[in-house]
This record gives sequence, C-alpha cells and structure tokens, in this order.
Amino acid sequence: MQPIFSIINNLRIQDILDIIIVSLMIYALLIWFKDRASRFVLVGISVVGAIYVTARFFQLYLTTVVLQGFFAILIFVLVVIFQEDLRRFFERLAIIGRFGKQVRSVGPQHEETEVLATTAANLARNRIGALIVLGGDDPLDRHLSGGTKLDGLISQSLLESIFDPHSPGHDGAVIIYGNRITRFGCHLPLSTNMDRIGATGLRHTAAVGLAERSDALCIVVSEERGTISIARNEKIQALSGAAALQNELETFYREMSPEKGKTSRLSQEIKKNTREKVIALVLTCILWVIFGYQKESIRRDFLIPIEYPSVSRQYILEEPKLTEAKVILSGPTQAFQLLNPETLKISVKLGDIHEGKQAIILTREMVKAPSNLTVVAVIPPEITITASRFVSVSIPVDVPTTGKPPRGVAVQEISVSPSAVRVLVPGAAASQGKIKIQTEPIDLSKLADRTSFEVSLRYPPNVRFEGGKPPAVEVTIKTKKKN
Ligand code: ATP
Ligand code: MG
Repeated sequence: MQPIFSIINNLRIQDILDIIIVSLMIYALLIWFKDRASRFVLVGISVVGAIYVTARFFQLYLTTVVLQGFFAILIFVLVVIFQEDLRRFFERLAIIGRFGKQVRSVGPQHEETEVLATTAANLARNRIGALIVLGGDDPLDRHLSGGTKLDGLISQSLLESIFDPHSPGHDGAVIIYGNRITRFGCHLPLSTNMDRIGATGLRHTAAVGLAERSDALCIVVSEERGTISIARNEKIQALSGAAALQNELETFYREMSPEKGKTSRLSQEIKKNTREKVIALVLTCILWVIFGYQKESIRRDFLIPIEYPSVSRQYILEEPKLTEAKVILSGPTQAFQLLNPETLKISVKLGDIHEGKQAIILTREMVKAPSNLTVVAVIPPEITITASRFVSVSIPVDVPTTGKPPRGVAVQEISVSPSAVRVLVPGAAASQGKIKIQTEPIDLSKLADRTSFEVSLRYPPNVRFEGGKPPAVEVTIKTKKKN
C-alpha cells in the first residue's frame, strides 16, 4: 500500500495529462482493431508488447534492443496495411477541427425520408435495381468516380427516372446530401471482404465498399430479388419494407443532424465501449508506473552562468566578477531527460548592496531550475563582489590626432565643444583620475578641405552619461598658411 500512496502523493498535473493522452491513444487503437476485426493482429502486437514491457522491467538488454527494432519496422508495416484507415482517421480529425461550422445544409424533413422510403419500395416492387447513397460527415469525393453532377431536390419521380433501366444514367449510384441529389451514375469502390458480401453481386458489394470507407448510408434495391437493404458502418442488412427503411433513415438523420446529433452522439460516445476504456486506462497506468514514474532520484552537477541583474542605479560592480558556479541538482531521471541545461541560471539578487568589497551568499532560491528538480548545493556557496558608488565628475574631452597636415598648412589651435563632459563614474576610478574621455582621432591630412568635425566620444565601459547617452561633440581646428 505504501508505494501506491507515495505515487499518488507525487502525482503532478502533467502526469495526469500524460496518462490521459496515452489512454486515449490506446483506446483509439483498441476500438480501431475491434471495428476492423483484425483481432489477431492486435493479439500478436499485444503479446510482443507484453514481452517488451517485461524485458524492460527486468532489464534484458538484448531483447529490448531487438524488440525496439521490431517495433520500428512494425510501424511502417502497419502504415502500409492500414493506409486507408489512417487516411480516414485524419479526415475525421479535420472534421472535428471544423466542429460547429456545419457544411451540411438542412437535413431532410419527415417528407423526404418518406419519399426515399416509398421510392425504394416502389422500385423493389417493380424489380428495378437502385443504389442510393446518403452522405454523412466524411467527404466522399475521393471514393467516387464517374457520374454526372446534378443539383435537384429529392422527389420520387426524379429518382425513378434516374433508375429507369431505359435511361442511360441508371447504372451506378445516386449521391444525396441533405435534401438534394448532387450526383448520379457514380461508381463506388467495391468491398473485398468476403464475409460481409457473401454471394451477392456488384451493387451490394459496392454499397458495402463505401460503407467500409465512410460514414455514409447506402440504400440498395435488388433487381433480382426485389429486396431493400442498407449498408452502413461496414455492415449490410436486409430490411422488411418501406416502414423499416423510413425508420432507419430517420435514425440516421437524427444522428447526423447538427443540433441534437452532436450532443446525443457525445453522450453515446461516453456510454459505449466501457470495457475498452477501462482496459486503456489500466494499461496506461501500468505503463506509466513502469516507464514514467521513478521514485529514486539522481543527482547531477551543472556549471551554470551567474547573472547580476538589477544592480541599483547608484552602484556598479567592479570587474572581475564570478561568471559561473557549480550547481548540484537532484530529481527523477526523466526530469533530467526533459531538462534543457541552457535554461539554468543563477540570478544574484543585490538588494542591500553597499560600497566596497562584500560577500554575497548564493542561495538555492537564486538558482532558476524546473520545479521538479531540487537544488542540493551551489558551489561556491559565497562570492565576493566589489561595488562602487557612482560619482558625478566633469572630465575634459581629449582630441587625439593622426596623420600630418597637408603641405603649407600648420595647426594653430585645436578646440572642442563642449570642452568637458559631466559623467557618472565609479568612485574608486574617479579618485584615481584614471577615466579618460576622448573623441575619435582626427585625421589632420583632411585639413585642406575642412576645419570642423562632428565626432563621437570614446570612453571606458564603466562611464555613464547624465543624459543617458553621450553628447554630440564638435572639434574645430584653426590653421594658418605656412611658407
Ligand atoms: P441485384 O440484386 O440488383 O442484381 P447485385 O448485387 O446482384 O444486384 P449486379 O447484379 O452485379 O449486383 O448488379 C450490377 C449493377 O450494379 C450494375 O448494372 C450497376 O448499375 C451496379 N454496379 C455495379 N458495380 C458498381 C459500382 N462499383 N458502383 C456502383 N454501382 C455499381
Ligand atoms: Mg445480380
């Protein structure tokens, strides 16, 4: 009992999310295998999966490596085998994406389902073969070939004219969306599943083929036997007559209708497949305990940079200052796997700083690390910094020169405006008179053309200007003619 409590106590929001996502994936997989009746594939994969999990648990190195390779290949094999299903799955995802914005226009009212039912019964009585497709949410275009476009309201006479054996368009299927016939004479994909189609002919095979690939409902009227069948969700079933058909159609449209349908379908979704949901959840929890959850924590050292933010405006830290420190972190292995070491930082808080040398304790709170890792120690635990107070001084601007004046010209006087600038400098530096502020060097060989230069200032990095940025400086050079 003890370990279970400790697991539950340490459960984070992320872990719960982790479990929910994987459960949903396993659930989707279970439902898919169940619907597709490819049970033996599922059983095969589960057995291999169980061996893999056991092998990892007991740390059987070779078995895990071989099985990992096997799974990598298996993914490709499954993609190839089930490409049609995957395509449909992504189509469905896209449809969920535009949830709310219904593309389907008004669904048929009571009269239209009645028209469809009586037409089908009439055709059956007259032994006229027919295939009518009612589109659902899935797009059908890529399954249909041939046919003629039409945009007409459903009516008995229109449907009977289309399926009239003397008309050139009677071959193939009629496609209905909402209350409109959008296409007729379409060729549908054929089913290859012999269990489902049995000894029936092409019309019935085509109906099952489309029902396997989409959520459309197909009504088939048999020419030979005069029966009415509907194919939906991969299954085909014979109906007793017009009333039964109308019933089925109304159920179909109710499920598909945007208002009531969505909520009732959601509640249906919640109620059904309880067994698969439980299996998925239990399986995920087992996987999570084996792979995701680790009680023993490990330690690791990191050399991480020190930042000195928010030094107050009156102080500056003298160089050199320590830029890196060693930090020992502890936590579960997977926390280290998800860690990007570049995000680790020590941010030194210099709240009550004073002039001169002082020791600062590097506390664990100064280390910025993810919440699932704890800081065990910072080495060194203490650093020494030297802070200087800024003082305001006026420093004369010096003008260096390069080159020689042109022939016949002599420099008489160099003046600079302003001749001195007021700056903030660290107290120690100011008292030693070490701060020099210079203009950019003036090239005397250019004196023939001009005698006034707009230049910028050069100054050490620990100098701050009172206005925030250095002032513009103008250098004027007085010359005289020389013989
Ligand atoms: P019935 O019971 O009416 O005889 P059936 O299932 O035995 O139906 P067939 O006898 O093979 O089927 O019927 C052939 C008719 O089915 C074709 O004339 C054509 O109209 C239709 N059909 C055949 N293949 C397709 C297809 N791929 N898509 C749509 N309709 C098809
Ligand atoms: Mg036939």
